Amino acid sequence: NVIIELKGVERHYVQGSRKLTILNGVDFSLKRGEMVALVAPSGAGKSTLLHTAGLLERPDAGDVILSGRACGRLSDDERTAIRRNDIGFVYQFHHLLPEFSALENIMMPQLVKGLPKAEASARAAQLLDYMQIGKRGHHRPSELSGGEQQRVAIARAVANAPLVLMADEPTGNLDPVTAGYVFDALSALVKQSGLAALIATHNHELAARMDRRVTLSDGKVIPF
Ligand code: ADP
Ligand code: ADP
Repeated sequence: NVIIELKGVERHYVQGSRKLTILNGVDFSLKRGEMVALVAPSGAGKSTLLHTAGLLERPDAGDVILSGRACGRLSDDERTAIRRNDIGFVYQFHHLLPEFSALENIMMPQLVKGLPKAEASARAAQLLDYMQIGKRGHHRPSELSGGEQQRVAIARAVANAPLVLMADEPTGNLDPVTAGYVFDALSALVKQSGLAALIATHNHELAARMDRRVTLSDGKVIPF
C-alpha cells in the first residue's frame, strides 16, 4: 500500500565555503489515501523535502521510490514524465495562468499530456464540482476569491490523477475560516481519489485533522 518512499535521502547546499545539510538521511513513506501534515519552522527544509520527494530536485544520496520504481538515477526526461503523470503540486500562491478561465487552467496539464480537449474539459468540470465551485469555471483567477483560487489550483494539481500530492502551505494565504473550508474540499478529494498527500502547514488545527503529523529535526523526518 506504500505509494512513495524516501530512503536515506540527503540534500546539501553549498553556500560559499560552507556546506548546508538540509536533509540528512530521510526515511519516510506515504500510503494510498493517506494525508500527512508536515509541520516545521521556516528554514527547516519543508520545501526541499517536498521538491525532492516530488522529483523536482535530486537527492544527493539515498533515493525516492515511487510505486516501486527508484527515481534518483533516471534521466531528467524520465523524471519529468513521471512528475507530469504521477505527482501534483500546490503552493501557497496559486500560480494560475491569469489569462485563462478556471476550467481552462484545470484542463492545461491534461492537454500537455495529450488528452483530447473534450475529455480534459469534462474532467475539469467534474473537479470543479468536487471542489464545490462548479459555477465558477468560466471566471478568470482575478475574478475569484482567494479560497476559490486555491480550490482551482488544487483541482489543477490533481487533474492528471496523480499518485501523490505535494502541498506547500496550500491554505497559508487564507483566513482561518476559508482555510478550513478549502481543507475540507482537499481532504474529501484525497479520500475519494486514494492519492497520498504530504501537506506542509503552520496551521495546527488542520494538522490535527490529518492522518498523521511529521516534522523535520536535524534533517530527518520524525513523528510530530
Ligand atoms: P522551509 O520550506 O522549511 O522554509 P527550505 O527547504 O525552503 O525550508 O530551506 C531550507 C534551508 O535550505 C534554508 O536555510 C534555505 O535558505 C536553504 N536553501 C534552500 N534552497 C536553497 C538553494 N537552492 N541554495 C542554497 N540554500 C538553499
Ligand atoms: P513543463 O514546463 O512542460 O510543464 P516541467 O518539467 O516544468 O515541464 O513540469 C512537469 C511538472 O512538474 C508539471 O506538473 C509542473 O507543474 C511541475 N513543475 C515543474 N517545475 C516546477 C516547480 N519549480 N515547482 C513546482 N512544480 C513544478
